[in-house]
Amino acid sequence: MNTDYLVIGAGATGLAFADALVAEADVEVTVIDRRQAPGGHWLHAYPFIRLHSPSAYYGVNSLALGEDHIDESGENAGYYERARGGEVREYFAEAAARLARTGQVRILTEHEHLGSGTAGEQVRDMNTGVVHDVVARRKVVDARYLEASVPATHTPSFEVSPGARVFPVNELPAAAGSGSSYTVLGSGKTAVDACVWLLDNGVDPDSIRWVRPRDAWFHDRSQFQPLEQVGGIIEGISLDAEAGAQAADLDDLWHRLEASGRLVRIDRSRPATMYRGTMLSPRELRAVRQIETVVRLGRVRRIEADRIVLEHGEVETRSDVLHVDCTALGLRDAPAAPIFQPGRILLQQVRHLSPSFNAALVGAVEARRDDDADKNRLCPPNPYPAGIEDWPRMVRRTWKTEHRWLSEPDLAGWIAESRLNLLGALPAHVTEPPVRTALERYLTHVGPAIERLEQLDGSRRSGPVGTARDPA
Ligand SMILES: Cc1cc2nc3c(=O)[nH]c(=O)nc-3n(C[C@H](O)[C@H](O)[C@H](O)COP(=O)(O)OP(=O)(O)OC[C@H]3O[C@@H](n4cnc5c(N)ncnc54)[C@H](O)[C@@H]3O)c2cc1C
Repeated sequence: MNTDYLVIGAGATGLAFADALVAEADVEVTVIDRRQAPGGHWLHAYPFIRLHSPSAYYGVNSLALGEDHIDESGENAGYYERARGGEVREYFAEAAARLARTGQVRILTEHEHLGSGTAGEQVRDMNTGVVHDVVARRKVVDARYLEASVPATHTPSFEVSPGARVFPVNELPAAAGSGSSYTVLGSGKTAVDACVWLLDNGVDPDSIRWVRPRDAWFHDRSQFQPLEQVGGIIEGISLDAEAGAQAADLDDLWHRLEASGRLVRIDRSRPATMYRGTMLSPRELRAVRQIETVVRLGRVRRIEADRIVLEHGEVETRSDVLHVDCTALGLRDAPAAPIFQPGRILLQQVRHLSPSFNAALVGAVEARRDDDADKNRLCPPNPYPAGIEDWPRMVRRTWKTEHRWLSEPDLAGWIAESRLNLLGALPAHVTEPPVRTALERYLTHVGPAIERLEQLDGSRRSGPVGTARDPA
């Protein structure tokens, strides 16, 4: 069982890390996961889920996901394909099988990491119950620090009384039709997906009630299109930089980002505070805006047969109302910690909104550099956003880190070639006038924006609402 690297977690990040590492280093890697197959949370995805971002830059570096075609119809029409849950699961199964065929990687599913023991890392074979001591000759790689939480497997934070009909979003297609109306619980992308699914299946918008503890900001999907449409990405980033450089205060920043089309919210008349970096297409936005019954009384505390008790009040319900749980956290909030540590790698976000890219980048840096301080300089952690207040920190940290990459020719070369780099096609399109204009706007504003966002972030931290989640 001994190995050079022991990767805990065979989700997207554990596999992307292992894939990039063995592409460049002659090492033995063992990837373990307590689930029955590789793919992490995708194994429990709801039936109608799709990636919210294009398949083109998702997954592992060595294997394309999909064929980079542009959808001709449906809510994604005009945009690059986005894999459905089943395709993502098949993709990760294939990625894992290919890794195993290199002879450098061993994938052990139904193996659980219990902790560190005196004789090595303790790994339990869940079929036999035998606990093995595994010595990781180089490093233990924690690919579950940001483990995703999804409705099918999480424990809801509210109680359900007998007689109330509450189920995870995964069961919606099977349960739909067995009630008179629907109450969707949750503020994020999963709740949007549930509402769009209901509307697409002919449910009257007036039969849907939406319990939204917070209103959310989303991105417009058109600004996250790669390859031939990469101009939209640099356009979006340049709008970030312009808004960041010119913002008078945080409210003005959100206003500018919305006015430029960079951020969107479902109800423009309501303040939005939630932000998880997810994207919607204009069609999805139009669809969910038809739902007019929105309950804004905070988080759900308890669902009874005839009422829903929330933080700030209660509303009536009935036993023939189907309550759809979309409240799982999704991305885990975890404090920043050095990614490269003695004997350990703690996978985290580096460039914002690029989980596959980041894990692969850390694998490539591990293969190419010797000194942990240098590796940490190139890959500083950048925690996932819990709310829109995290946007200035997250974006400015990405820009500062990307600037460092540019002065490392070998790494810049790896990034330029990586299929997981959403900006990979930029050089091929840089002579197009709109792309050049956007790039110039970005280059003009990024320096002042970094400074301004640092000031705005500082003002927030010293105020009463500062969370100081990111001490680095
Ligand atoms: C619903 C949803 C949709 C998303 N869509 C996108 C998207 O479209 N585009 C995008 O870029 N990002 C998306 N994300 C972001 C997400 O971070 C990534 O897609 C990615 O799948 C997360 O992978 P992960 O490896 O970090 O975590 P996970 O998938 O949670 O994998 C962690 C693994 O660690 C294993 N594990 C945990 N503890 C142990 C232990 N003690 N021993 C052994 N194994 C253990 C778990 O079983 C799990 O399989 C989405 C996230 C969610 C929740």
